[in-house]
Amino acid sequence: MSYDSNNIFAKILRGEIPCKKIYEDQFALAFNDIHPKTPVHILVIPKGPYATYGDFASNASDAEIVGFERALGKVIAESDLASRGYRLISNAGSHSHQEVPHYHVHILGGRDLGPLLAK
Ligand code: 5GP
Repeated sequence: MSYDSNNIFAKILRGEIPCKKIYEDQFALAFNDIHPKTPVHILVIPKGPYATYGDFASNASDAEIVGFERALGKVIAESDLASRGYRLISNAGSHSHQEVPHYHVHILGGRDLGPLLAK
């Protein structure tokens, strides 16, 4: 999947549309999902132009990958989810119903999340 710089998360990164920011550093931005599926539903995105996890893992620099993972860890720690648990999801492509073509990790928690997939 090639990167489309007009996607909604690229616009959030450029400050063209607002978000409810939770954390930001040079590698990552974390903000609340606009349509939360769970009591805690945070999106963490890298600052670089990567469409999917595979794109990011293959093409980002080591510093970007480490920086992103550390940012994700900080957001989880600061959200106080670790004691009761949480789930990370990253959709990629049509089979996963990825809506926004900028790599992102969903952090879901705040209630029992049930089985991995609905069916
Ligand atoms: P995906 O299906 O691509 O894995 O997830 C995209 C997520 O982005 C969805 O959960 C959706 O609610 C969220 N989303 C879409 N547009 C916006 C927006 O403008 N702002 C925020 N904060 N979240 C959005």
